[in-house]
Amino acid sequence: MPESVKNENNCSKCGIFSRLATANKSKKTGQQQYRSWCVTCEKQRKAKWVQENIEHVLEKTKLWQEANPEIVKKTKTKWANNNKEYGAQYKREYRQKYPERINAHTAARRRKVRCNQPPWASRKDLVAFYENCPKGYHVDHIIPLRGKLVSGLHVITNLQYLPAAENLRKHNKYEINKPSN
Ligand SMILES: [Zn+2]
Repeated sequence: MPESVKNENNCSKCGIFSRLATANKSKKTGQQQYRSWCVTCEKQRKAKWVQENIEHVLEKTKLWQEANPEIVKKTKTKWANNNKEYGAQYKREYRQKYPERINAHTAARRRKVRCNQPPWASRKDLVAFYENCPKGYHVDHIIPLRGKLVSGLHVITNLQYLPAAENLRKHNKYEINKPSN
């Protein structure tokens, strides 16, 4: 009997003549075997099982994701790339829903740099300093913009090139000599 006929029959669940769901291959012959019910009924059966065992499914999923972080990351990136419109839509809705959060965030970032940049600082010099930063180096504020004890200025004389690793280690710390009484 040709394959195309064998995998179609009257479904044992819904009774409609349709394509049957696949079962495991026969261990003896290696031939594809079919269930007595159709593809649609199989989908519903699986969905129902997941619903009834949701705790188990979620737990299994979580364990698998923890064991396969690389695959999870790849899948997420791929999904984001294939659903850019969804991501853009999400951002749009977030902006509309929480405009004050977005504004506060942007303003805080601008303020941080701008309030430390006096009017006499040459913007051209600053830009050039950043552009000439050697590879593997960061532009560092010698006195941090938001140090705990002192705040430096966003001016050329307060800038230096630091090896990236060293800059990350330094963070916002600046050693000052405590005034002795
Ligand atoms: Zn069916």
